[in-house]
Amino acid sequence: MKSVLSFGECRGRILPRLFRGRTCPGSTMRRTSPPSKRSENVMSLIETHEVTRVYEMGPTRVTALERVTMGANEGEYVAIQGTSGSGKSTLLNLLGGLDRPTIGEVLFDGKSLGPLTKKQMARYRRFSVGMIFQNFNLIPTMTAAENVRLALAFGGLRGVERKTRAEGLLDRVGLADRMEHRPSELSGGEQQRVAIARALANRPRVLLADEPTGNLDSTRAHELLALLREMVDRDRLTVLLVTHDRELAASFADRIVLMKDGKVVD
Ligand code: ADP
Ligand code: MG
Repeated sequence: MKSVLSFGECRGRILPRLFRGRTCPGSTMRRTSPPSKRSENVMSLIETHEVTRVYEMGPTRVTALERVTMGANEGEYVAIQGTSGSGKSTLLNLLGGLDRPTIGEVLFDGKSLGPLTKKQMARYRRFSVGMIFQNFNLIPTMTAAENVRLALAFGGLRGVERKTRAEGLLDRVGLADRMEHRPSELSGGEQQRVAIARALANRPRVLLADEPTGNLDSTRAHELLALLREMVDRDRLTVLLVTHDRELAASFADRIVLMKDGKVVD
């Protein structure tokens, strides 16, 4: 039985290899429709509305994003693809509250991030969204458990609770036996799992992943995207994932958003 099944899953249902990269059979999920074409009463958990981001560098202006409207529903796994320089990281940084649009709005749970003060924005980054990156960005002198506990400390959790919750998170990403390892004592795939545990420490509803498989071999990349799929299906996490790998994205994501020259291509 197992041999004829792939890793592909549809909202908790194992998807036979035949259907990989296609819409889940019997499902109403769509992979390619832009948000504007979705039913009006389905509200995105996180979205951009007509967002433009212009970087000013002395006399030069770079329009990294131009009137981008996109979003993801709760419990949806959205892959973002596009060539280098098409604005993917700029988009993720805006969704993650690391940056603000030049024009337009980013909304979380129906509310604009525009009016948020610096302090409120820091709270948003801590509790509403988690981010992971290609280079893992772990603190090299700290163990896996310490890296996760630090995020929990910023989230206001006390000592004993921090320890228990960090262990639970690392167990959840399959690293129960690697808690006391430092990043240099972990493989790339393991480091990215620590980064996921850390990003999810304070129970955000959204995970933003900017090319998280960029430094991983194809087996590890596959495992990582499968882990995220499981988190979407089991925990109703919302995932926005930037990846170059079209086949992987098609295997695991519910929908692919394609970007070109700072715009979402329909
Ligand atoms: P991607 O992640 O798709 O490769 P980016 O969002 O990083 O694309 O970049 C989009 C465009 O914006 C590129 O032309 C890039 O050179 C430019 N850009 C990105 N960040 C900055 C910045 N901080 N200052 C100036 N230009 C930038
Ligand atoms: Mg990028």
